[in-house]
Amino acid sequence: MTRLALVTGASRGIGRGIARALAAAGYRVAANYRANDDAARSLTEEHAIPAYKWNVADYQASREGVERVVADHGAIDILVNNAGISPDRFMHKMGDDVWRQVIDTNLNGYFNVTHQVIAPMRKAGFGRIVNIASLSAFAPNYGETAYGAAKGAIISFTKALAKESIARGVTVNAVAPGYIDTDMVRVAPQEWLDDLVRNHIPAGRLGRVEDVARCVLFLVADEADFITGATVDVNGGQIMR
Ligand code: NDP
Repeated sequence: MTRLALVTGASRGIGRGIARALAAAGYRVAANYRANDDAARSLTEEHAIPAYKWNVADYQASREGVERVVADHGAIDILVNNAGISPDRFMHKMGDDVWRQVIDTNLNGYFNVTHQVIAPMRKAGFGRIVNIASLSAFAPNYGETAYGAAKGAIISFTKALAKESIARGVTVNAVAPGYIDTDMVRVAPQEWLDDLVRNHIPAGRLGRVEDVARCVLFLVADEADFITGATVDVNGGQIMR
């Protein structure tokens, strides 16, 4: 049977791009999203990708959401943890509710969904998990104490789980995008974006969702079974580690 991929946060932006690329490459794909029913509906209508609504920050909802996907389509072979938020602000202006919302979504959300699939993947002797981290894991910007902390933690989460899982045929890798042209980045003022592209991104442009999706496709291939615990930068040369 063709491999089944679950992509979280796939109604818009990078997740949508990944879901579309996986479907175009012949994978069966299920998409998760939180709120935007119109965007989810268009993903299903235009690209025949079924969409499942739940908040990844909620453990019980994640358990039930994954159960629904499995009941409809069978075991999940590939998980792309992508759902994330970035309500950036300086710490002295940030309520603890914002801190918790970011950690609950961008860090605990990755655990909440991974926890549902890791045992079945180990039992099946095959699994591919890709965690969408960020350049901010290594070079957080102003206002990113919470976002940078969550993304930095995702890198260690990836490495630790990779170590535990490779002997059972499950690889776990991270992708660290730089600035990608999505709703998340478009909230920034145009002048700021122009300066960013001109002075800080050697490639001279924002990233496209396809740039990230290409990398995910490479990592989830059956043949990529010796690549684990890695973080791949997709940032147009903005930071080189
Ligand atoms: P967008 O804001 O464009 O899209 C976010 C997606 O995630 C939407 O589909 C949204 O669903 C979904 N989502 C958000 N919160 C939840 C939740 N709690 N439960 C389920 N789904 C949720 O973001 P991007 O595509 O730009 O970002 C995607 C990922 O890539 C994030 O992890 C982000 O941190 C990371 N990233 C992005 C970069 C960029 O430059 N854009 C750079 C580096 C990393 P809905 O439509 O229902 O709101």
